[in-house]
Amino acid sequence: MKLYSTNNPAAFVDFKEAVFNSMPQDKGLYMPASIPALDAEFIDNIDQFSLTEIAFKVASHIMDGAIPEADLKKIVEEAINFPAPVNQLDEKTYVLELFHGPSLAFKDFGARFMSRVMGYFMEKGEKMLNVLVATSGDTGGAVALGFLGVPNTLVTILYPKGKVSAVQELQLTTNGQNIRAIEIDGTFDDCQALVKQAFTDSELNAKFRLTSANSINIARLIPQTFYYFNAYAQLKREGKTDIIFSVPSGNFGNIGAGLLAWKMGLPVKQFIAATNINDTVPSFFETGVYTPKPSVATLSNAMDVGNPSNWVRIMNLFKDDTKALKEIVTAYSYDDEQTRDAVNIVYDDFKYVVCPHTAIAWMAIGQYRYDTKDDTSTAVFLATAHPCKFPDMYEGEIKASITIPEQVKELLGKPILTVKLMAEFDLFKQYLLEN
Ligand SMILES: *Cc1c(COP(=O)(O)O)cnc(C)c1O
Repeated sequence: MKLYSTNNPAAFVDFKEAVFNSMPQDKGLYMPASIPALDAEFIDNIDQFSLTEIAFKVASHIMDGAIPEADLKKIVEEAINFPAPVNQLDEKTYVLELFHGPSLAFKDFGARFMSRVMGYFMEKGEKMLNVLVATSGDTGGAVALGFLGVPNTLVTILYPKGKVSAVQELQLTTNGQNIRAIEIDGTFDDCQALVKQAFTDSELNAKFRLTSANSINIARLIPQTFYYFNAYAQLKREGKTDIIFSVPSGNFGNIGAGLLAWKMGLPVKQFIAATNINDTVPSFFETGVYTPKPSVATLSNAMDVGNPSNWVRIMNLFKDDTKALKEIVTAYSYDDEQTRDAVNIVYDDFKYVVCPHTAIAWMAIGQYRYDTKDDTSTAVFLATAHPCKFPDMYEGEIKASITIPEQVKELLGKPILTVKLMAEFDLFKQYLLEN
């Protein structure tokens, strides 16, 4: 598999280099040089395959020999070891549940696959990999649990004191083994600044092999295509093939993977990009001008992104042809009040609890149907996290109806292992050098 940078389509790297670099030197994003369509026969018979069979087929097709098939099969089976079911809410509406992995968010697909891909390349006698991650919540948990026990890797997670939920904190701090958590007396931006500075520090780079594991990594994007194919397979079994996906979007990695799946031949009628009031993309669709803005805090905080890091990749997929992009993608945005209303309506109508991110994707389906008068397609909204990760959202009957998954029960009572640091680079550097 060859990849180019969105800033330089003429220079290519191989898959391994793209995975370890995460981002090209020129600050573009890696794109597959070729996105071959899957054979029509596979798509026609996709309903006969399981999630891992589909995942292996799709991965080996796009990765084109970058990892030998037997090894890739093992990686897929280890990484995607939890289900991604579609649940029917009414005649034409389904929810695709992506929160059955260890960290209870869809980021498990990307983080688990990427960690095993990195682990695979490390086993071939590479120097130990030091993964540094700053998190405001979901990413840290998925990366920590993704890398837990992966040989030859050491993960350091920085999170802001008092700003992650109780479940998220447990996921970050109770792992031990090759995972270390640092509570920073500061904000998420402080955490991110410390990590960024570490990557440019010559002493640290001389001593360690640092990598960032962030959401733009190509090895996080590829596995996120799997569940779109698998959702289609499940619906095909029910005789439904006229499909719309509504995706709660922040950095646009999830919907970017959906569009990649579509480019590979997955029949999708429409994608809906649903955002909170951080509406850089919906306003671009409306005005034609792309204006990044500082992010604003909302209830759906994993989508508080003012300058989506994967947007360049999506534009590149469409060769900057906004008209073609708008034929397949529609975008809507919603505020916190609407988010709360949607949580209540979904519960009243279906006795189903959605997390605030998922609520936004559900709302967008209603608006899409209203705007387009489309009353025949089957709409699927992606449930990106389990509601128990956001306990402050719910009260009364809704709160009482949330079942706490086993993954969380196991964490309760485990000792919290965390190091507390002030937001000062010298202290962070000293910690890395001495531990
Ligand atoms: C990360 C995240 C999102 C946003 O996904 P992107 O790929 O950044 O668009 C949505 N919901 C939840 C729960 C998340 O953790």
